[in-house]
Amino acid sequence: MTDPDCIFCKIVAGEIPQEGVYQDDLVTAFRDIHPVAPTHILIVPNEHLASTNDLTRNHEKLAARMLSVVPKLARHEGIEQSGYRLIMNSGPDGKQEVIHMHLHLIGGQAMRHPIG
Ligand code: AMP
Ligand code: ZN
Repeated sequence: MTDPDCIFCKIVAGEIPQEGVYQDDLVTAFRDIHPVAPTHILIVPNEHLASTNDLTRNHEKLAARMLSVVPKLARHEGIEQSGYRLIMNSGPDGKQEVIHMHLHLIGGQAMRHPIG
């Protein structure tokens, strides 16, 4: 299921030139266009889910995959030991701007973040 008007669906489909970081049967990872730190990767479901509110038990494999790719990406970025943040925004108060669920993987120096 894709949304023809959704920017992240277009990235998943390869319709927007992008420095791809990782893709498998369930998720795609690519670099945030406005990075807040040296590593800023977005991990998104290949299928269009608006936010965490769309998750059901049918998505357990997908939700697990979004997390299980993290150590692979962190190793690749060289931030496995130095550390990183995982952030998933949902809805207006969560400051979600792109309405296709995504997990921010943010690592490296000079991080900006509202929480600590
Ligand atoms: P959020 O506030 O959690 O919805 O964050 C959306 C993120 O998507 C922001 O950090 C944007 O910089 C990023 N973003 C928006 N459009 C693109 C794009 N075309 N390619 C990569 N990242 C994008
Ligand atoms: Zn989408």
